[in-house]
Amino acid sequence: MKKHNFFAGPSILSEYTIKNTAAAVLDFAGTGLSILEISHREKEFIAVVDEARALVKELLNVPAGYDVVFLGGGASLQFCMVPFNFLEKKAAYLQTGTWATKALKEAQLFGEVDIVASSKDANYSYIPKDYVIPEDAEYFHFCSNNTIFGTQMRFDPDVKTRLIADMSSDIFSRPIDISKYDLIYAGAQKNLAPAGVTIAIVREDALGRVTRKIPTMLNYKTHIENESMFNTPPVLPIYAALQTLKWYKQLGGIEVLAKMNEEKAMMLYNEIDRNKLFKGTAAVEDRSYMNICFVMNDEYKELEAEFAAFAKSKGMLGIKGHRSVGGFRASTYNALPKESVQALIDVMQEFEKAH
Ligand SMILES: *Cc1c(COP(=O)(O)O)cnc(C)c1O
Repeated sequence: MKKHNFFAGPSILSEYTIKNTAAAVLDFAGTGLSILEISHREKEFIAVVDEARALVKELLNVPAGYDVVFLGGGASLQFCMVPFNFLEKKAAYLQTGTWATKALKEAQLFGEVDIVASSKDANYSYIPKDYVIPEDAEYFHFCSNNTIFGTQMRFDPDVKTRLIADMSSDIFSRPIDISKYDLIYAGAQKNLAPAGVTIAIVREDALGRVTRKIPTMLNYKTHIENESMFNTPPVLPIYAALQTLKWYKQLGGIEVLAKMNEEKAMMLYNEIDRNKLFKGTAAVEDRSYMNICFVMNDEYKELEAEFAAFAKSKGMLGIKGHRSVGGFRASTYNALPKESVQALIDVMQEFEKAH
């Protein structure tokens, strides 16, 4: 039976990515060696990093004055690298979920954190809209897509401070105006590659403005100056990321992906809103196109376990909601085909008919 991969992360990758990566595990670039066992300093691998960097810039229209680096440590390490490199006295954070909260907790270790708004009181089911960013904040940090709660900011905010975003679960899903940002970071395991590499897009002239000493590995400058080769980079995830980036380009780029994502998400939201058994958990205007959260309607609550088992028996994998929300979450990342969304809708309709 065909399996449909709705996992939230690590998550679905294109067949193109998996096949090419598997081939390189056996023979990398005609070297006769596996990508798992060659030096990262070999010219064939340096070419991989160069091409991946160039493709990130091309696909996202990264303007001059920005660098793209590939880092280890996951998005979680960025939660501390950001304040280490950018926070002298005060920063502003928008609290929209678990990851946003983890990010601001790290910042509190370095300086004053102004939580400009929070939706914690409503279990992060919406994105706060009316907030004021203090003028003396050195930067404003937000999480563009809240993977766990299924809310998304599909726009690039206008702010007077520096702008920093965690885009781990929606980078490459829509066009971004990079010029508004000083730093964007994203762990790869949601929309790009297997776990192990994090992309950072950094405005060069935003660096070097804090007075504290920064450990070498935690300084963005180190990785920019050494072209992501200061230490051994995550070789295999970077290779897989390059395959995904090539696939994105072949498909027609980010605008094409954005259209596909909107179409897939609307298909599923329409079914959630129509089907008597289910309801969405995120505020309608803030619904994510990447992580679609839903629960059983109150009068059908007792059917939750039965639906979970039924969906699984039909090949739907990874639709269990995060424990802090409950219910279900279907992640509809770039690589998820429309057919999988349709298959889930069919399962929801079949289950509705039986009840
Ligand atoms: C998954 C995720 C993270 C954490 O990524 P790690 O690579 O596990 O550190 C951070 N932010 C967001 C938005 C995520 O979805």
